[in-house]
Amino acid sequence: MRKKIVAGNWKMHKNAAQTKELLNELLTQIPAETVAQVIVAPTFINLASAVDNLKHSNIAVAAQNLHQAESGAFTGEISAEMITSVGVKNVILGHSERRAIFNETDAIIASKVNTALKHDLTVIFCFGEELKDRQSGNHFNIVENQLKDGLFHIEAKDWAKVVLAYEPVWAIGTGETASPEQAQEMHQFIRETVRKAFDSDIAEDVTILYGGSVKPDNAKEIFSKPDVDGGLIGGAALNAKDFITIVTSI
Ligand code: PEP
Repeated sequence: MRKKIVAGNWKMHKNAAQTKELLNELLTQIPAETVAQVIVAPTFINLASAVDNLKHSNIAVAAQNLHQAESGAFTGEISAEMITSVGVKNVILGHSERRAIFNETDAIIASKVNTALKHDLTVIFCFGEELKDRQSGNHFNIVENQLKDGLFHIEAKDWAKVVLAYEPVWAIGTGETASPEQAQEMHQFIRETVRKAFDSDIAEDVTILYGGSVKPDNAKEIFSKPDVDGGLIGGAALNAKDFITIVTSI
């Protein structure tokens, strides 16, 4: 059975003390019987302390990005080796904010995927269409191309280290959520696309998260859909009570 995951993308929120406080709330309040694998993605500067704070728990840590080069003159950037050196095992790549604000193309993201896999990091690969694509009926094409251009160059064995996160851009941070039916329709399409490009076992085993304004009051319905294996949560991951309600909605 494929893994259920709820991941919190903290973006550029929470200083050192606030990171510790939220982690402590999660550590003490997430019920032991929780089904989902919980992952949190604090900012780079708080990754090492997060790993330390969570070392005796089941909560995993993800970086929000990495640079594709091994090292070098890239002022302000962080390498995969630096991330793994503090004990982080996961990385979010291809987030729509990285694509839109920091001009990350599918080719750049593909190169980041290679670097992450080379360092044995699990990649949470984000992709999703913009509002104009959905309105023009082009959303399936966009999603298929993002997968093909950013990810499908990997080898079959690499899929054990990949989690997909479908995040329609029009639903991120907007309060607008894809309906559970829209999410299911796209997740089914994504699984089918993986099946055609690779094989049935890979398609059935890959965890596909939904992201885009998942909140405590809509999580259960979205997660109830057969091809939705959990969520990537932005805003609602910054509050322990909301995030735990979402985590326990699986
Ligand atoms: C995200 O940024 O990945 C996200 C899903 O954000 P939000 O939940 O705030 O829409």
